[in-house]
Amino acid sequence: MTDRISRRFCEIVGENKVLEQEPMARHTTFRIGGPADYFVELGSIEQIRAAIQVCREENLPWFVLGRGSNLLVSDKGYRGVILSIYKDFQKTEIQGETVTVQAGVLLTTLSGKVLDASLTGLEFASGIPGTIGGAVVMNAGAYGGEMKDIVRKVTVLDQDGEVRTLTCGEMQFGYRTSLAKKKGYIVLGAELTLKQGEKEKIREEMQTLKAKRIEKQPLEFPSAGSTFKRPEGYFAGKLIMDAGLRGAAVGGAQVSEKHCGFVVNTGNATAADVRELMRQVQGKVQEQFGVHLEPEVRFLGEF
Ligand SMILES: Cc1cc2nc3c(=O)[nH]c(=O)nc-3n(C[C@H](O)[C@H](O)[C@H](O)COP(=O)(O)OP(=O)(O)OC[C@H]3O[C@@H](n4cnc5c(N)ncnc54)[C@H](O)[C@@H]3O)c2cc1C
Repeated sequence: MTDRISRRFCEIVGENKVLEQEPMARHTTFRIGGPADYFVELGSIEQIRAAIQVCREENLPWFVLGRGSNLLVSDKGYRGVILSIYKDFQKTEIQGETVTVQAGVLLTTLSGKVLDASLTGLEFASGIPGTIGGAVVMNAGAYGGEMKDIVRKVTVLDQDGEVRTLTCGEMQFGYRTSLAKKKGYIVLGAELTLKQGEKEKIREEMQTLKAKRIEKQPLEFPSAGSTFKRPEGYFAGKLIMDAGLRGAAVGGAQVSEKHCGFVVNTGNATAADVRELMRQVQGKVQEQFGVHLEPEVRFLGEF
């Protein structure tokens, strides 16, 4: 590594955990996104603090990344530092009905572990392809459940670099939002409360929900899940379908034929394609039904 700033990050996390000009298409489920100037894989609170200190001193913006499953990164990439809280935040501890889990653990992985321990409550999230950190920040939900139903405490790093433990109430969870999202706190981990259940029933429920996802969602294409939030009193997918936009495309981006709530990458979509298609969808739905569709997908970089 030749870059002076890279060397500063290497001193904190080690050489093999710092990448320069790293294509973000490799780190998002959309498989879209240009290069990030720096990509730093973090493994401890001390490393996060030190990396942020470097960002501050070097006047570089930073962005916290989980699995990148709710993210559209610009084709030009990101002129700043990606702080990856994923591969090295992987601890899970189960004690009775309490599950203490670090931010980088995938919900799919955690689901397997709680199933082994015959704990019920996480079934709704077993098919969500994100990390605990991303799921807590977004208050991810599906099939009638939300993270707020099972989160008892969340450990965060606040803007002053202080570690704080917040209760579920203090997290101010709402529809796809939380205090961590509003304040830009970094989620380090969470304590979940589940219930002892019957292993076979839990397995069955997880399998049923998985089958539903396979049947209804375009999992055969890269995407970032639901493109838009659910507008009050409506379903985004139904509005988009009723506006005649099933299969509508811009370049390689397409309103899924299978589920209109998803914009998918049919192979060579750019971020600009996805953004333009989203604009067109928003325009048509507004024009025909007077409903504003707010993106659920988060944007990073210049659009
Ligand atoms: C096929 C598919 C199906 C999906 N189904 C669902 C679903 O049913 N329900 C649902 O709610 N979502 C769904 N999603 C969207 C996505 O999986 C969730 O929003 C998930 O919780 C995002 O987690 P992530 O780790 O990928 O976060 P990322 O996409 O990496 O980040 C999302 C946001 O969270 C922030 N963030 C991530 N980690 C942290 C952290 N440790 N601390 C602070 N901020 C952080 C990021 O800065 C960003 O703002 C789906 C996505 C796909 C591709």
